[in-house]
Amino acid sequence: MSQTQDVSIALPRRRMKITKVEPISLYVPIEDEIEAPVAVPHAADLTDIIFSGYRTTLVRIETDCGLTGVGECMVRLAPTATRAIIDDISAILIGRDPLDREAIWELLFGIMMNRGHNRGMFVEAISGIDIALWDLAGKFLDLPLYTLLGGRHHERLAAYASSLRFRARDEVIAQALDFKKRGFQAMKIKIGRNLEKPQADIEFVAAIREAVGPDVRLMVDANCAYSEDLATALQVGRALEKLDIFWFEEPIAPNDIEGYVQLASALDIRIAAGEADFMSFGSREFFRRRAIDIVQPNISRTGGITEARRIAAMSRAFHIPYAPHTGSCSAVCLAATLQFAVSLPNFLTFEFMQSDWSKSQPNPLRHDLLLHPVEKLVDGFMEVPERPGIGVELNMDIVDRYRMA
Ligand SMILES: [Mg+2]
Repeated sequence: MSQTQDVSIALPRRRMKITKVEPISLYVPIEDEIEAPVAVPHAADLTDIIFSGYRTTLVRIETDCGLTGVGECMVRLAPTATRAIIDDISAILIGRDPLDREAIWELLFGIMMNRGHNRGMFVEAISGIDIALWDLAGKFLDLPLYTLLGGRHHERLAAYASSLRFRARDEVIAQALDFKKRGFQAMKIKIGRNLEKPQADIEFVAAIREAVGPDVRLMVDANCAYSEDLATALQVGRALEKLDIFWFEEPIAPNDIEGYVQLASALDIRIAAGEADFMSFGSREFFRRRAIDIVQPNISRTGGITEARRIAAMSRAFHIPYAPHTGSCSAVCLAATLQFAVSLPNFLTFEFMQSDWSKSQPNPLRHDLLLHPVEKLVDGFMEVPERPGIGVELNMDIVDRYRMA
């Protein structure tokens, strides 16, 4: 008597289940008074609110197979607000398979999409969850995240020093020369502090160009300083072209797409933007209208790896290079961004951010948060670690020290 053979293959560990979602808000007060390191309108008034401390909200997702994923939500204000959002939506995640990350993303985005919360803090909250799910997927398969994203396109990542800020000219030039000595072949200068006399900014940039020589790539970042003055943005852009500046970042507000279109068509210098929160929907319009030449999403703000992948795929189709924003994120976002960036065919350059707003009080969320630091710079290039997922293990002593009640 013949028996029907069972041809199905038993695959072990095919599924996981989420058992717990834990958002963790961290805050490190900065003791000394610092000047806002950006030129956004009203920067001086923002100092006490935004720049009074280092902040983040992390997400830990536990599963029934013992694996835990970690992600980060970008937070510049009220970390516990992001935490509360995650606490409220976490019930929807319990029992789900973390490998279903794109389906989960749509589910989460759908909660508030038609209620005006289709960007900002709600999407920052989703971003941290999404990164933790991708981390889990990598750990489940015992592969680095970049392999899940299609593999390594780069041996290592070209990086630029971010940023040179307005201080006494000698001090800034010394800092630029120090960056060069450390191997950076590119660096960014913050401009836009002198709205009444933009020529002073140009002279400042010219002095740095003169000091570092013609071979160092220089970029500038205005942090939306010229939002109410397109004519000055144009004038500054033209002057920057003469100084061989590689890109002109966020000259105006992110919601002024018409202004970006005008600048991009009138200027030869590359216009860069995207850290604000374009997501794929906003990016589509910026790409389609050729409003920017370089896109700079932050995975912890734009909707995580899932949404950043969509932006990246679109940017490639429009032949627009992708230069990830890291800003003053913690080491978790940095680690995930390294993995993501190395998987991009149109990756341009990595933001190596000097995230220490206070010189006397370095940022522990960047330097001490991980048991194995991921930030490794060699000759101006970042190495990308080979550990599973995003390759981080939290230092729980630091987490507990700065955990918000
Ligand atoms: Mg910027």
